[in-house]
Amino acid sequence: MINVILLNKLTKSSLKGDVKAFLDLLDALRPYLDIPQVNSALYSVVYQLAMNSLIDVSDYCRKCGGKCCSSGNPVPVFPFDYEEMKLRMPNLELKKQGEFYLLPRPCPYQDGWKCKIHNFKPYACLSFPFSTEDEQKEVIDNYAKGVPSFKVPDYCIAGKKVKEVVDEVAREMERSLGRTPSPLELLEELVKRFGGEKRK
Ligand code: SF4
Ligand code: SF4
Repeated sequence: MINVILLNKLTKSSLKGDVKAFLDLLDALRPYLDIPQVNSALYSVVYQLAMNSLIDVSDYCRKCGGKCCSSGNPVPVFPFDYEEMKLRMPNLELKKQGEFYLLPRPCPYQDGWKCKIHNFKPYACLSFPFSTEDEQKEVIDNYAKGVPSFKVPDYCIAGKKVKEVVDEVAREMERSLGRTPSPLELLEELVKRFGGEKRK
């Protein structure tokens, strides 16, 4: 049976830029790779990993000023996120609703366009915008084949830039391979091209 907590933890590590965790995630999902929605979700992790740790988007986020942290519904925090945050901030107290803790927005850890808890921010923050369920549900539900065309809200100019860059790399690969690159092939190419760029 699929271990959802393990998958979520592997996804979170992948979103932080851990390519080994992405390989472990692929291994865990190998029996399900024929399911289009699984493939689509893996592409979303690749786009988000590129945004979080390969492509330098700091100028875009500085210009935006941190809209993703200042408005919107409270950020859902998984119990494993909460445990990690509590280790660093023992006095932290967040309300719980159902299986999630809730981090209010405007977020108390926002410092302009930067995050004061960048190294241990929750899964949901690491997921925005490409791996955020609310943003991508329709794309993932309707996915059939190819590299999905992910939705990015207009205000997220960093996400728009990343989409433009990664879409172009995927198109170039499609031309040279004569087929759609797999999520892993796309990630490997992105690491090759942008692995040296400064992290946000
Ligand atoms: S934890 Fe950091 S990234 Fe998440 S909402 Fe707060 S300031 Fe933004
Ligand atoms: S990720 Fe998008 S919404 Fe958030 S600060 Fe950067 S540009 Fe703004």
